[in-house]
Amino acid sequence: MLFDTHVHLNAEQFDEDLQEVIERAKDAGVSYMTVVGFDRPTIKRAMELAEEYEFIYACVGWHPVDAIDMTNEDLLWIEELTAHPKVVAIGEMGLDYHWDKSPKDIQKEVFRKQIRLAKKVKLPIVIHNREATADIVDILKEEDAAEVGGIMHCFSGSPEVALECLKMNFLISLGGPVTFKNAKKPKEVAAVVPLEKLLIETDCPYLAPHPYRGKRNEPGYVKLVAEQIAEIKGISFEEVAIVTTANAKKLFDIN
Ligand SMILES: [Zn+2]
Repeated sequence: MLFDTHVHLNAEQFDEDLQEVIERAKDAGVSYMTVVGFDRPTIKRAMELAEEYEFIYACVGWHPVDAIDMTNEDLLWIEELTAHPKVVAIGEMGLDYHWDKSPKDIQKEVFRKQIRLAKKVKLPIVIHNREATADIVDILKEEDAAEVGGIMHCFSGSPEVALECLKMNFLISLGGPVTFKNAKKPKEVAAVVPLEKLLIETDCPYLAPHPYRGKRNEPGYVKLVAEQIAEIKGISFEEVAIVTTANAKKLFDIN
């Protein structure tokens, strides 16, 4: 029983064979998934999937790379969607300094607006961080994001930063990179962070785990992430599956 907490089955990469991808996920033991929408088309599709499939939940928000495109109407729309029973979190939101489509000040403003919305509607937040750790931590502190907490999605930082995030009421989610042979930091993070504070994800179609690195990722591969964490922690795969699923259900307030 696995919970893939971050999928983009709403991406066009799954248009042709979505049903088969979902069947393979079920065969691999995936019982729940959260599909993440981060702009107009992907939010719409995330909502459709959450309505169509009982085991799919939705997370809706605005991606920092596209922050410059978010209007006030979009933010109001996201707020309306949070009333839907299958919407379990807001995001992905955050900062991405790798791409320069949206200036940093606009990214920060859009990030802050979404944190405030999450506090208003009392939902956890899902954080996307690329090359912006210090500013993310500062904003989470300044906005008192600990009040709602959430997920550091596909965490790639150091064990020290991971422990700082735990103090701010965030869980650490590990994806495909923890399985890469040369991925020192994610493996250290998997070792240091208590299992009760860990989640697993694929971020599919991106970041496929070893041995599928470079190929299209899919939710069934989250099993490889759980197996790697079990190996690093010296515990059973079943324990990783049970505890990370319970962590996700608690955070997303699923029965
Ligand atoms: Zn994502």
